[in-house]
Amino acid sequence: MPRKRKSVPQGDYESLYRGYMALTRQVEQLSALREIGLAISGSLDLDETLAAIVNVVQGALDVRRVTIYTPEREQESFRPVIAKYGDDLIARDRLDEEMFSGRGTPLGEAMATRSVVICENHVNGAAYVPLIAKNEPLGVLSLEDRRDGASFSADDVSFFQQLGSQIAMAMHNAQLYAMAVTDGLTGLYVRRYFDLRMQEEFALARRYGRPVSVLLFDIDHFKRFNDTHGHQVGDMVLRQFATILQRHTRRSDVCCRYGGEEMTVILPETGLNEAARIAGKFCGLVREHPFQGDGNQALSVTASIGVATYCAAYESPDAMVRAADEALYRAKEKGRNRVELAGN
Ligand code: GH3
Ligand code: MG
Ligand code: MG
Repeated sequence: MPRKRKSVPQGDYESLYRGYMALTRQVEQLSALREIGLAISGSLDLDETLAAIVNVVQGALDVRRVTIYTPEREQESFRPVIAKYGDDLIARDRLDEEMFSGRGTPLGEAMATRSVVICENHVNGAAYVPLIAKNEPLGVLSLEDRRDGASFSADDVSFFQQLGSQIAMAMHNAQLYAMAVTDGLTGLYVRRYFDLRMQEEFALARRYGRPVSVLLFDIDHFKRFNDTHGHQVGDMVLRQFATILQRHTRRSDVCCRYGGEEMTVILPETGLNEAARIAGKFCGLVREHPFQGDGNQALSVTASIGVATYCAAYESPDAMVRAADEALYRAKEKGRNRVELAGN
């Protein structure tokens, strides 16, 4: 005889269902956190890290726009450092026009209260997530325009808080790394970074036959320049020299301070003829540049440059750099203010 089924009150079904939905949501959020964590810890480069963050967050949370803001002037205002809208990263010059005040805005509130701010009145929802690492507020992540048209809710807050901590930690690590590989005076990469990148580029050249060149710069008679104008003015010149290198190289080129008044540029995908042309251009740029000292009068310096391009005869990155150094030495011997190419 079939047993009579005990009836379950309607309310219990609803609470079971709600519990099930909450669990499903939690699992989804945890897997999103894991996915985001993996994606953003893949690089130590700050720009790459920021780009990875906006990409993966936009995909995982299904929002149209993701922006990272950093505070300026004691949190009086916020600058968007990267933003993705739809399929595209927003160009830097357009972002520069989007400064936000910290006063009376959800951005300022998220930063000041160090908690997630949800704007329910925003079309399709918006959330502002504080990015705090080691108790330091680094910025705010904004999530705008959910694609499903719903708005965010209080249920999302603790997930966003965790997400914010994870993102802030990745940014913090990338900032530490940037400091470790950047020379304090010139803002160029340090020698250790140059060595690492030379090894990588050398390996690519050897394995896949990609061309790579290196330029080695040494400022002419810089000791005499310091003696005449003072060490501080010498430092100003080194900074301006570094700016010339950065302005006139591609993003993929690697500008480094090799030591003292010696700088290097690694030129990936660049053969000997092109490298010689670039070195010649730099020689002219430095020679013509009106360097600013501590007075109004423009100062002149010149540089000598040694160039080496990868070839199979070089057994190691060191051998290639040594060849550039020998070429540089010849440039000095031949009267300075000139370019010499390694014999290959
Ligand atoms: P050369 O044309 O043969 O290269 O002559 P030089 O005087 O530049 O060569 P040398 O390598 O003998 O001297 C380099 C000088 O660069 C010594 C030092 O006074 C100066 N120098 C090195 N590092 C710095 C720095 O960080 N700041 C300043 N102001 N000067 C530096
Ligand atoms: Mg020198
Ligand atoms: Mg010198």
